[in-house]
Amino acid sequence: MTDFGDLGLPDALLSVLAETGYASPTPIQRLSLPPLLAGQDLIAQSRTGSGKTAAFAIPLLTRVDAGRRELQALVLCPTRDLCAQVAGEIRKLGRYQPNLQVLIVCGGQPPRPQAQALERGVQVVVATPGRLLDHLERGRLMLDGVRTLVLDEADRMLDMGFREDIARILAQTPPLRQTALFSATFDEAVLELSAHYQRAPQRVAVSDAPPAIAQWRQEVAEADRLSSLISLLRAGAHESAIVFCNRKLTVDTVAEQLRRAGLPADRLHGGLEQRERDLALTKFRNGSTRVLVATDVAARGLDIAGLAAVVNYELPGSPEVYVHRIGRTGRAGAQGLAVTLHGPGDAERIKEIEQYTGTPIPYRRPEVTEAGAETAEPALKTLSIGGGRKDKIRPGDILGALTGEAGLRAEQVGRIEITDKLSFVALHADCAGRALVRLREGRIKGRRFRVELLH
Ligand code: AMP
Repeated sequence: MTDFGDLGLPDALLSVLAETGYASPTPIQRLSLPPLLAGQDLIAQSRTGSGKTAAFAIPLLTRVDAGRRELQALVLCPTRDLCAQVAGEIRKLGRYQPNLQVLIVCGGQPPRPQAQALERGVQVVVATPGRLLDHLERGRLMLDGVRTLVLDEADRMLDMGFREDIARILAQTPPLRQTALFSATFDEAVLELSAHYQRAPQRVAVSDAPPAIAQWRQEVAEADRLSSLISLLRAGAHESAIVFCNRKLTVDTVAEQLRRAGLPADRLHGGLEQRERDLALTKFRNGSTRVLVATDVAARGLDIAGLAAVVNYELPGSPEVYVHRIGRTGRAGAQGLAVTLHGPGDAERIKEIEQYTGTPIPYRRPEVTEAGAETAEPALKTLSIGGGRKDKIRPGDILGALTGEAGLRAEQVGRIEITDKLSFVALHADCAGRALVRLREGRIKGRRFRVELLH
């Protein structure tokens, strides 16, 4: 199989793939689609960024009957952020299946709206095990209509201690379901999980060779760490970067210092309110913040298209974490850059990482940048609008209001993201103020919504 057209997919799905720009299947899709479409179980080794989500979302969508309001497919993921990504991909690929309802069920959000949506009936649930179990135990949903079950990032779910929860959830699904298991590694525990819950699974793997990532490192004295980071970011100021720190407190300090130095940076760590984390990610994805300072846990599984660089503000605790961090860049064949700042005493740990990855990390002298390089203003700003999917708002409505009532040109409008109750739109910074005023005065879909400029 070399082409999506060879798979006998429904026309609606083929159109979506073409419109989405998925011209041909990625290697993991080439290997996974035929067995999954034939109804077989599958255990697949693949990284985030390989196209694994569509590899299970496409077959799942061919098996869902959107005409029936019954839960038919269940995807279990380790984190809330991954749930959001997976549900987004399923909704995107399923957009021509009328009445298809995809629900995210995970912690960090009030359970009541989830319970209400479950009551109304959905066909697909994307969930973290803990919260799903909560709903199950309260009798808010039944799994006996589940025909497709996906365990995504199974290795991470096991690492996070979800083994018991998974067992209790799977015990309530029908034995004749199809089960697909995706994992970055095939260790003992993952194989045990597969042996327990899958029937004669087809086993596929794509080479885990790191994508095109240029790596280099820079030795810094402790006192110069922050100023080195600032010059590094200034040198590549037009592009996006995630800066990894080992602790939340360091994230807070670094983000604050970057802002003081005129580099707009946001924070991402587990100590923040979910709302702050969502906003930080939205602004980073749409380009209105260029620098995201993050801890490892918070950035787990993130797929950020076009991420130019990863910076290790300090060496991570282990080579595995290093590989995981730098894997955020260089996605989908694009060239990425990973720069590591380290202290004079870190030679041993660098060697350990080099041995683990089999690739030397060359030393590079810090670049000298002119003082005050003009980086202070981000090119984009984000407006939040107090209405979303629940208010039947679509990207076209927002684009229409901006180019109509607010008088903007389409090219001044960037990415538009619609969530359940809120929408976010990136705008050229020089017209954001005008758009704000006009949108506040005007209407979207005939209604007035609360509009704010995010800082
Ligand atoms: P994933 O591994 O599922 O996180 O996917 C990584 C990225 O690849 C996502 O941004 C997808 O939208 C994109 N993608 C998935 N399949 C294809 C394809 N066949 N062609 C181009 N891009 C794809």
